Amino acid sequence: INITICSIIFMVQARQLAAAYLVSTGVLFIGLPFFQNDPNILIGHYINLAVFMSVSWVSSRLLFQSFCRNLEGRMALEQANRLLADEISHHKQTNEKLSQANFQLRHLSLIDELTGIANRRGLRNFISHAFGQSDVPISRLSVMMIDIDHFKAYNDQYGHEAGDKVLVFIAGEIDGLVHSPLELAVRWGGEEFIFLSFVADQLSFYSQADKLRRRIEALSSDNEITRPYGPITVSIGVSTMPVSDETQTGKIINAADKALYAAKAMGRNHVCQVGSGSPI
Ligand code: GH3
Ligand code: MG
Ligand code: MG
Repeated sequence: INITICSIIFMVQARQLAAAYLVSTGVLFIGLPFFQNDPNILIGHYINLAVFMSVSWVSSRLLFQSFCRNLEGRMALEQANRLLADEISHHKQTNEKLSQANFQLRHLSLIDELTGIANRRGLRNFISHAFGQSDVPISRLSVMMIDIDHFKAYNDQYGHEAGDKVLVFIAGEIDGLVHSPLELAVRWGGEEFIFLSFVADQLSFYSQADKLRRRIEALSSDNEITRPYGPITVSIGVSTMPVSDETQTGKIINAADKALYAAKAMGRNHVCQVGSGSPI
């Protein structure tokens, strides 16, 4: 019984167990006749011993094999879980990097590379965002179309690099007008800029435009970038109109563009307001 219990609970390889069996049964086989003189009882003991030994050997091996199988299965499962966890964290990191790259890409695609203010795509994005998500009800839009005067001549005379610096300077001044999430400075293209506001009223917007014009004229003659080349001036077309949806913004930009032509026709360095609809 002792051997049976020991061999059942003893998780060792067959070879090690066989060695223990040989020693213990050897001792029993050899020792029994010293304590039992009756050959019939002795034979009975030997038969019992053989049965016990066989049963305990078989059950011990069966238990040991199933223990090994379970252990292998558990280890394989743990290994697979570890690999899976590694893979999940790797995928998570890749996804995070991807969404960061996407965010940066999207941001870059909305920004003008030279001046750092919004480009046309940025303007479209801003307008649909304003109509789609603004908490404030949108009822009017004011647009300034700003164009640098005689910029081609400036470029021809002082070079493209000096021209680029002027563009950055003007963009910075226009960006300085932004005081609300519903206002945006845009490089419309070349040396043309837009400042638009969903919150300004017509009067203050016009005076803001004239202040900008005077400020650029004054600053450029006292600015280390532009000073060596003489003052820079801009012409500005202004338009303020009621809007109720995104599709109406185009006509306000066009009206500001027309007003800009009028400002140029007045001899440049002017602000002009011409509306194609009824201005507010
Ligand atoms: P106007 O007063 O009628 O506006 O005259 P203008 O010379 O400013 O207008 P025009 O449209 O004839 O010329 C615009 C110039 O703007 C032409 C081009 O050399 C310059 N320009 C456009 N984009 C850039 C740019 O990214 N960098 C530089 N340096 N110059 C640019
Ligand atoms: Mg120009
Ligand atoms: Mg132009």
